[in-house]
Amino acid sequence: MSERGKLLVISGPSGAGKSTVVFKAIEGRTDICFSTSVTTRAPRPGEVDGREYFFVDFERFREMVEKDELLEHAEYVANRYGTPRSYVEKRLSEGMNVLLDIEVQGARQVRRRMPEAVLIFIAPPSMEELERRLRGRATDSESAIEGRLIRARQEYQEADFYDYLIINDDVEKAAAKLNAIIEAEHCRFSDWADWLRLH
Ligand code: ADP
Ligand code: 5GP
Repeated sequence: MSERGKLLVISGPSGAGKSTVVFKAIEGRTDICFSTSVTTRAPRPGEVDGREYFFVDFERFREMVEKDELLEHAEYVANRYGTPRSYVEKRLSEGMNVLLDIEVQGARQVRRRMPEAVLIFIAPPSMEELERRLRGRATDSESAIEGRLIRARQEYQEADFYDYLIINDDVEKAAAKLNAIIEAEHCRFSDWADWLRLH
């Protein structure tokens, strides 16, 4: 693959089904990789440093921001999260599509810094269904579920700068839409101007 990869930013309320849809969509694809974020939050049971996140202290995080080592960073529930810039740039230049699962403030910074990034918002079909999914997943306390539902409404209001919206009512259909977006983005005329000149 010679062309540059696409930076795909996925956001949406916790419980919307982002992980489920992304894993379905990338099954069998070798042209997509995930960026592992840096966070100051403590690992949850079962999380491994370098797999789910790179776990760092606030001091190290501050240093990374000062040295401009992060493509974007944001605060979320009293912790800091960020995307290491060098990994993303290396993989894109190798032709890989790189996927970020980040919240809305971070996505806004990516839009400013890399306007060509593709921003995709995944939403559940309704707030009632979101609540059902959060309860069904059984990973959050009652107060955390309420907090996430409030946060979901805020995110809807802030998300007007995204390129695409996928409503995840059915996992297969939502994954097919995500793949269709990726294919369409690789057919952008502006990316192929050189090819036309050479043929
Ligand atoms: P997120 O990554 O957005 O926080 P998850 O992928 O963890 O969300 O999904 C939240 C819960 O909803 C999981 O239990 C998942 O199995 C379920 N889920 C995801 N997509 C659907 C869907 N289309 N229909 C029903 N349940 C779904
Ligand atoms: P969690 O602590 O549940 O793993 O993640 C909390 C939130 O932080 C999620 O919405 C997740 O998408 C977001 N997040 C994870 N990594 C990053 C990152 O590198 N940057 C930003 N801006 N948000 C992130």
